[in-house]
Order: sequence, then structure tokens, then C-alpha cells
Amino acid sequence: MNPFSLDGQVALVTGANTGIGQAIAVAMAQAGAEVIAAGRRDCDETLALMGSGRAMRLDFTDPMAARDVFAGERIDILVNNAGIIRREDAAEFSEVDWDDVMDVNLKALFFTCQAFARAALPRGRGKIVNIASLLSFQGGIRVPSYTASKHGVAGLTKLMANEWAARGLNVNAIAPGYIETNNTQALRADPDRSQAILDRIPAGRWGRPEDIGQTAVFLAASASDYVNGAVLNVDGGWLAR
Ligand code: NDP
Repeated sequence: MNPFSLDGQVALVTGANTGIGQAIAVAMAQAGAEVIAAGRRDCDETLALMGSGRAMRLDFTDPMAARDVFAGERIDILVNNAGIIRREDAAEFSEVDWDDVMDVNLKALFFTCQAFARAALPRGRGKIVNIASLLSFQGGIRVPSYTASKHGVAGLTKLMANEWAARGLNVNAIAPGYIETNNTQALRADPDRSQAILDRIPAGRWGRPEDIGQTAVFLAASASDYVNGAVLNVDGGWLAR
């Protein structure tokens, strides 16, 4: 058996309609998984790109939305990718922008992991891949709730790995660098910020969603069975600098 294959595995990817989530869904389908593309909107484009798989509505406006998703069928791989960002000076930042971001990026992520684990722990096998950020390590500017949430994702990934590694669940995270998606549209539209970012990336280019997709396949495959509680930087070298 190819240790990088996902043949016979069922994977659920949140926020799979676009960007990094879409690329993860496509990469996992290419690696042989049956992918459930979950989103608060339709995932028709992702289904077309995958050529197989199915879609599921999952809206984390209710952070507990996934509580019943894993009870009814065997799902082997969970990718928590759905996430939002709000930008405002820390001195002006609103409670709404705090709560909205924390609900989707952190609370929904944790309780989706919990729902998955309750179904997977009795089977003794499962893979969780959380999408963290450079702002799991750095402070950032004008994104207080995003930074808090992504630091939280790194911490929770380690906590869950500590509790579940010996019971057959691998819990890891990917920290993407600067990737060309909707999430970074505002940064890329600002020529000065955009150039300053590029100048600091050793690889000399912005990341592509596929860069994250292939890493997610590794963390979902048996090749990574001894990887637990890692937050893997996929950033073209940004954090090495
Ligand atoms: P996008 O904005 O393109 O995608 C975000 C995804 O999350 C979309 O599918 C979006 O759905 C979904 N989402 C947002 N709110 C909800 C909700 N309430 N319920 C369900 N789904 C929701 O950004 P990216 O692809 O860049 O982001 C994906 C992940 O990667 C995020 O967690 C982000 O923080 C992280 N990341 C991105 C980086 C980058 O450089 N792009 C860098 C580091 C981390 P919809 O389309 O309906 O809004």
C-alpha cells in the first residue's frame, strides 16, 4: 500500500467551496479519497474539479453546526479549513468582530474536532488537519481576533494530540504563509504591502492553494502516522527568515 495514498478513506473538508479548502479537497480526491466538500454555500465548482465526491451544507454561524455530522457514517479525515478575518486598529476593534472570528476560527474548529473524535476514537483511527496561520506564531497588525484565534488553533492542536495520539487519532495543523486567495485579496491589492511581503519570502513567490493541498494529503495519509501535534509551516520560508 502506498503510504501517501488516501484510497478507501472518507475526508470531510470545511470551507471547501474556494481557496485553500477547495485545493485541499481536490488534492485529497486526486490521492484517492472520497471527499465531502462542506461549505455554507454550494460547492459545485469544487465537485466539478474533483470529478467525484459529494457536498454538505455546514454553516459555522452556529459554531456547533457539526455536532451530529460524524455520528451517521464513517469519516476518516477531518480538515478544519473554514476561517474568516476582520481588519481594524486594535484601539477601535469591535466586540462583533471579535466574536464572529473566534466563533468560526476557534469555537467551531474545536467542537467539530470533538464531534469527529467522539465517532473516531472507538474505531481507534482518524486524522485531523487544522488550518492555522503565520499568526499562530507572530502578532500581526490590525487583526486581533484573527491572531488570538490562530494562536488558539495551534494550542488546541497540541492539546488534542496529547489526549488522542495514543488512541489512534493524529491531530496536526498546517500554518500557511501568504497564499493567493480571497483572504489575502486586500493585501495583494496594496502594492506597497504586497511588495514588502514578497521581499521577505525566501521562495520568492506567494503560495498557491495547491501548496497547502499536497501538505494536507501528507498529514491525512498513513505516511504521517508518527506526526502528532505538529504545526507545519508551509510558507516559502517566511518564518525561517
Ligand atoms: P477564503 O476566504 O477564500 O476561504 C475561507 C473559507 O471559509 C470559505 O470557504 C468560506 O466560505 C469559509 N467560511 C467562512 N465563514 C464560514 C462560516 N460561517 N461557515 C462555514 N464556512 C465559512 O480564504 P482562504 O482559502 O485563504 O482561507 C482558508 C483558511 O486558511 C482559513 O482558515 C484562513 O484563516 C487560513 N489561512 C489563509 C492564509 C492565506 O494566505 N490565504 C494564510 C494563513 C491561513 P464563504 O466562501 O462562503 O465565505
